[in-house]
Amino acid sequence: MADDKMEKIVSLCKRRGFIYPGSEIYGGLSGTWDYGPLGIELKKNIENLWWRMFVQERDDMYGLDAAILMNAEVWKASGHVAGFSDPLVECKKCKRRFRADQVGQRCPECGGEFGPVRQFNMMFKTQVGAVPEDEASIVYLRPETAGGIFVNFKNVVDSFHPKLPFGIAQVGKAFRNEIAPRDFTFRSREFQQMEIEYFVRPGEWEASFEMWRQNVHAFNKAVGIPQSEVHELEVAPEDRAHYSKRTIDFEFEFPFGRKELYGLAYRTDFDLTAHASASGKDLSYLDEATAERFAPHVIEPSFGVDRTVLAVLSSAYREDELGGEKRIYLAFNKAAAPIKAAVFPLLKNKPQLVAKAREVYQLLKKVEPRIMWDDNGNIGKRYRRQDEIGTPYCITIDFDTLGEKPELIDTVTLRDRDSGEQERVAVSELASRIA
Ligand code: ATP
Repeated sequence: MADDKMEKIVSLCKRRGFIYPGSEIYGGLSGTWDYGPLGIELKKNIENLWWRMFVQERDDMYGLDAAILMNAEVWKASGHVAGFSDPLVECKKCKRRFRADQVGQRCPECGGEFGPVRQFNMMFKTQVGAVPEDEASIVYLRPETAGGIFVNFKNVVDSFHPKLPFGIAQVGKAFRNEIAPRDFTFRSREFQQMEIEYFVRPGEWEASFEMWRQNVHAFNKAVGIPQSEVHELEVAPEDRAHYSKRTIDFEFEFPFGRKELYGLAYRTDFDLTAHASASGKDLSYLDEATAERFAPHVIEPSFGVDRTVLAVLSSAYREDELGGEKRIYLAFNKAAAPIKAAVFPLLKNKPQLVAKAREVYQLLKKVEPRIMWDDNGNIGKRYRRQDEIGTPYCITIDFDTLGEKPELIDTVTLRDRDSGEQERVAVSELASRIA
């Protein structure tokens, strides 16, 4: 059933324009995915909710959009050049490679024997400029957005003089040359992160850690990921990243198993201290309250956008029977739904109905641009299509809207996606109903 559900989601995503395999007409490129017209709306809704909740609505947060290409010294200082690696084994027979921690003694594909365990650095390496490749021209595609935040710590402090605790947030691409991309977008080579580095006084890290732990759950609620599907895993010291003193993984019940959705880590002053020493720049903070100078400690909530999209899709996926017919629908909440409402003329060959429906459509589109027009096929088919892409409301303009029953003039039917129930609503009330 679980695999089955995943297959159905992958197929729906392709068919209806949420997510396509990357470079598909050339046979694809493993670990890359392209978001289609509905996928990009869903993704943006998620990112915008996050940005609004964690940056715009708070007084202690600063936004940032740093370059993906950074000086290679950044990743040497952070430990990624030396340490950002996974143990890898290669099958002697079929030459396939696997993460050593994810396979047993024998190749799961052909049963062959594995060679010795090797370290595999996951950063994508490229070079800048036209000079022949040498040490100085090497750059890495960032494996996490956090690096851009640490190198701009001093800039933000100098521009805004924030008081501790405060945070810097960034949404952007990260790249990892994953050994085994799999489970749809869950493990991709190019993906989007939403990260916060929250700077605190060393003695106050626990309170901030707790605050962000609760914020993670609040965000899940806002995008429509049920709390019952999310589990906290306290990561054991030997499994934590090299910089972390405490880590919680937030795991979600994906159709392919319980896997990491987000991470929350206490990174101590590891990063600021390492960058200060490697760059020779003073990255300390002068605490005006105590006249002390020190490197703030850091709490890092790290959210993967693609995994959020997948968790939202998986939580929303439903199959039921309505009016004696099987249907598939996505029960997105209003905030996540890519399309907020669809407007239909009952019949497409009645100019008066079409003109009135256009009028309603234009009116709503001014208030909420994510409105769709559909006049294809019969009403039942249009409902099914909207259900399948998770549109909360369908609005139908019929002869009563035009005044066939005088008491119903300028009213429409408003249909609810989940229950399939319809009610008569005045055109003037539509905008507030779908908001
Ligand atoms: P995993 O253990 O699953 O490899 P990780 O612990 O390496 O993940 P982090 O380094 O904590 O992940 O990255 C922060 C977040 O970025 C993750 O919680 C996840 O949401 C997202 N992320 C990490 N790697 C990938 C990937 N390959 N594809 C999609 N999202 C990812």
